[in-house]
Amino acid sequence: MEKGLLIVFSGVSGVGKGTILSKLMEMEDLNLAYSVSMTTRAPREGEVEGVNYFFVTKKRFLEAIKNGELLEHARFVDNDYGTPKEYVDKMREEGKNVILEIEIKGARQVMEKCPDALSIYIVPPSLEELERRLLERKSEDEQTIMKRISKAREELKDIDFYEHIVCNDDLDIAVAEVREIILNEMNR
Ligand code: 5GP
Repeated sequence: MEKGLLIVFSGVSGVGKGTILSKLMEMEDLNLAYSVSMTTRAPREGEVEGVNYFFVTKKRFLEAIKNGELLEHARFVDNDYGTPKEYVDKMREEGKNVILEIEIKGARQVMEKCPDALSIYIVPPSLEELERRLLERKSEDEQTIMKRISKAREELKDIDFYEHIVCNDDLDIAVAEVREIILNEMNR
């Protein structure tokens, strides 16, 4: 059986990555498997252990790094995030296209280790629109939102190593574009 693709999917927080992803996950022909990350961040309301993230202590996170359990890891704002390697390898061996929703530093590490990974970055129509969406989402306090916006400004300067940049102005169009990118890669 042919090994599945590795797809690196990134974008500034609040850009709508999660929404795009959940629509893609429903499309059976894309044959996607979502890689659940490990994080030291506290769960947000409604987030479920093992579905959104594996929520762990800093001690457990450091242990995972030491044991070589993570394909990549990075610090983002005030927390650590990392991709458990075993699941990614297993799913790809089973022919699934594994999707990693990760930030830019981790994406770089993955691209160095797996240069044939497919990389997609979602950008907002503007930073003003991003700020509006983050404030509307109300999942963080204002100070954290400001930190995330300044992080976004920084991150957006550095995204040219991604193979594909998709603008999420209209959700359905963005979903269709990402779908096409994945289908093209599957048929190569
Ligand atoms: P959030 O706290 O909003 O869930 O995620 C913050 C940022 O961390 C997002 O840009 C998200 O894509 C990224 N992220 C989530 N999981 C991982 C991971 O396993 N590794 C890395 N490098 N970034 C991650």
